[in-house]
Amino acid sequence: MTMESTIMKTGWSFDNTYTGLPALFYTATNPTPVRSPKLVIFNSSLANELGLDSEVLQSNAGMEILAGNKTPEGAFPLAQAYAGHQFGHFTMLGDGRAILLGEQITPSGKRFDIQLKGSGRTPYSRRGDGRATLGPMLREYIISEAMQVLGIPTTRSLAVAMTGEPVYRETEQPGAILTRIASSHLRVGTFEYAAKWGTKVELKALADYTIKRHFPEAGAKGDPYLALLKEIIKQQAELISRWQLVGFIHGVMNTDNMALSGETIDYGPCAFMDTYDPATVFSSIDVHGRYAYGNQPHIAAWNLSRLAEAMLPLFHQDEEQAVKLAQDEIVDFSDRYQEHWLAGMRAKLGIFNQEPEDENLVEDILEIMHKHNADYTNTFRALTLDKLENTALFGTSEFIDWQTRWKLRLGRQQEPKEESRQLMKSSNPSVIPRNHRVEEALEAAVKHNDYSVAKRLLEVLKNPFEYTPEQEEYTALPAPNSCKYRTFCGT
Ligand code: AMP
Ligand code: MG
Repeated sequence: MTMESTIMKTGWSFDNTYTGLPALFYTATNPTPVRSPKLVIFNSSLANELGLDSEVLQSNAGMEILAGNKTPEGAFPLAQAYAGHQFGHFTMLGDGRAILLGEQITPSGKRFDIQLKGSGRTPYSRRGDGRATLGPMLREYIISEAMQVLGIPTTRSLAVAMTGEPVYRETEQPGAILTRIASSHLRVGTFEYAAKWGTKVELKALADYTIKRHFPEAGAKGDPYLALLKEIIKQQAELISRWQLVGFIHGVMNTDNMALSGETIDYGPCAFMDTYDPATVFSSIDVHGRYAYGNQPHIAAWNLSRLAEAMLPLFHQDEEQAVKLAQDEIVDFSDRYQEHWLAGMRAKLGIFNQEPEDENLVEDILEIMHKHNADYTNTFRALTLDKLENTALFGTSEFIDWQTRWKLRLGRQQEPKEESRQLMKSSNPSVIPRNHRVEEALEAAVKHNDYSVAKRLLEVLKNPFEYTPEQEEYTALPAPNSCKYRTFCGT
């Protein structure tokens, strides 16, 4: 079989609607070929969902595509332009090390961006080398796939391919390319870019594109652009509540890292919280705790305000009126967020109906966990299994008093105990990608070329709500004397 016919059989079915946007929004750019591609991890079930042939993609010919050496038929490689507020400061950004191959249309008619991350320099690279290293790309693969099985909207990872070329960071690292799959790569920062450097016509084209691609119902509304903002706010409120409920800390919630599709995007310095503490920050560059766990809802609202600001000319010709209309939408974020969060917390505690005191009941257990340095995931796991041994928290008088209130509360609903337990099981993951486990998997891969640790971790994480015996071992906390966990931006 020739390479050409192999490519044909891979199952690519590209559309390239992004190229229909004004030229301001992208630059046609090819990936830079690499020396010796080697596929190290591949997501066959995702390939199937996308209508791609796993076997062909894992062959030498497939690898050439996943490493950026060959362009599949129908693709139109491009780098997207965008701006963003990074730690509060506005900057021009763009895909500096990522290239969009096109939009794959799946057998069920869904549309997904296929993006190569780490595929070489683009016009937006600034001083960067356009490359990515193996550890962070594997990290994105593991955590994004873990988020997916936790039921949290996210971009996905199809493959990690090594380039066979060194990448220079603080030390020399193996280069790698991640194939990222996303509903789209439209960001808050794409609108900020349009508002800053585009005309109103270009801004409108972007808004119309976003509506068509993600929010067709908004297009049918009397004021489609306000309806668009409203829908984005709704989705973000739900997304961030889901992060909070599982203890996920994104780490770098800059506006360019907030996707308009409502998916979690850009797994740089992200990590899962272990000990419950709203001030938890893992990212080494987040010195002021801007993106701390407890700050995430507030930051999401701040980012959405930047989006609304960028969209102002679309709301009303009169700026004052436009601001008023935007504000009326933005203020809804916190109620919407709170509603989702409380509903999720009720489920975590096995509560079906609503009582005004529920919020206090939830806040109180969190406060007790904070005071006694309890592990967030394992506390809810223990409550779910009703196994309250081995943890200092459960012997404290505060907890015992709280438990009495909780039991009385559960007694005030019709659902039997067993149903309540099932609700808790489906709301409290038994396993999460614990930081020390993720690091262990990355170290085995990067230092010893051993991918079995990462693959086993991915396997164990697959059914987080099933409470399987194999998961037990993965619920263990890191050794108490291990130093404070630090994450670094995904370069
Ligand atoms: P991130 O922190 O991954 O969200 O990236 C922020 C910005 O820096 C984006 O515009 C990236 O494309 C760009 N960037 C990150 N790493 C590199 C790199 N190695 N080369 C070029 N641009 C990069
Ligand atoms: Mg980014």
